[in-house]
Amino acid sequence: MLAEAVVAAEDVPPFVNSAVDGYAVLAGDVGDVPVRLRVVGEVAAGGFTDRVLGTGEAIRIMTGAPMPAGADAAVMVEDTERLDGGEVLINKTVPRGASVRGVGEDVHVGTELFAAGTVVRPAVAGVLASVNARRVRVYRKLNVAVVSTGDELVSDGSVLRPGQIRESNKTMLLPLIADAGCRPIDLGVVRDDEAALEEVLRLAAINFDAIITSGGVSMGEYDVVKAVLSRIADMRWMQISIKPAKPLAFGLLASGDRRVPVFGLPGNPVSSMVSFELFARPALRKMMGHADLDRPTLFAVADEGLPRKPDGRTAYMRVAGSFGPDGRYHIASVGAQGSHQLAVTSLANALAIVPDGNGIEPGGSVATMLLSIA
Ligand code: AMP
Ligand code: MG
Repeated sequence: MLAEAVVAAEDVPPFVNSAVDGYAVLAGDVGDVPVRLRVVGEVAAGGFTDRVLGTGEAIRIMTGAPMPAGADAAVMVEDTERLDGGEVLINKTVPRGASVRGVGEDVHVGTELFAAGTVVRPAVAGVLASVNARRVRVYRKLNVAVVSTGDELVSDGSVLRPGQIRESNKTMLLPLIADAGCRPIDLGVVRDDEAALEEVLRLAAINFDAIITSGGVSMGEYDVVKAVLSRIADMRWMQISIKPAKPLAFGLLASGDRRVPVFGLPGNPVSSMVSFELFARPALRKMMGHADLDRPTLFAVADEGLPRKPDGRTAYMRVAGSFGPDGRYHIASVGAQGSHQLAVTSLANALAIVPDGNGIEPGGSVATMLLSIA
């Protein structure tokens, strides 16, 4: 994202040039066609001719080549026939200025091209290159550290012993962080051990811009993230009336004169993903100066019903959706909605925001957050 406005230091294009492969002519010569003109030169892109075009003359010209002095239009080669004896037959009348690109038609020197806060999308990068803005001030990407916690987690491919499971949350969170425009830092898996976790968190606060933990923030006996962060950071422990992802911790961990945000995401993989989407991602984008924080949300048609039970919470149901020929976004549940069922969730590209109650009838309309559009 640009940290300063960019003003064009150059015109684009920098000189008058031809928009076609063909012949540079005087429009006054081609009022009556067909007409024969004498070919007195040739100019290619990157070339130049100082031959001044006179009446009755044409110069062979390529797209992007500078227009010869005197010429005021170009005729595309498809509308011409090359004749023996150095002549060309022009078969089409063109007005003055036809197929001629003027100086600064794309960008005028001195124009403010981009305001501070503009995201440097690929086309923006291309424009910057086109005006020789070789160095621009941009915001630094946030370095966002992720640590998974849990004695049960195995991430090195070894055989599972009784009670162990494969780690999956940080493997999912790292690319979600990259997708949010940040640089993900993998701090690995930390055991449910307060001293070990405290050391990792303090080091992370020294070195990185934000910290995301997974697991250990709910009501369990070994919720060491809760124990450690309560002691070393200024935390808020929340129970949010949503499903999944009810428990959430957020706080600031002081490191010197910096205060580093810490997001304590729940351990259940689906909860982890949903709370990243709803809370961590917009916060990280805000830290990076984005005005637009949330994923796009629209009203979708629930092709099948989305039943649920009243429980005082808003459900973020995992759905697969796409735009139909009616121009509306159509969704259907991907299936099981358990907060431990990441496999089914991985098929979702949107979250249907289903208010407390008995759900959505088939054909009903429901606010839906798009996680990806393809
Ligand atoms: P916790 O929030 O630590 O109580 O964990 C809740 C559930 O999520 C437990 O079933 C954990 O085993 C599981 N879990 C926690 N962290 C991870 C992880 N990084 N990958 C996969 N499952 C996890
Ligand atoms: Mg745990």
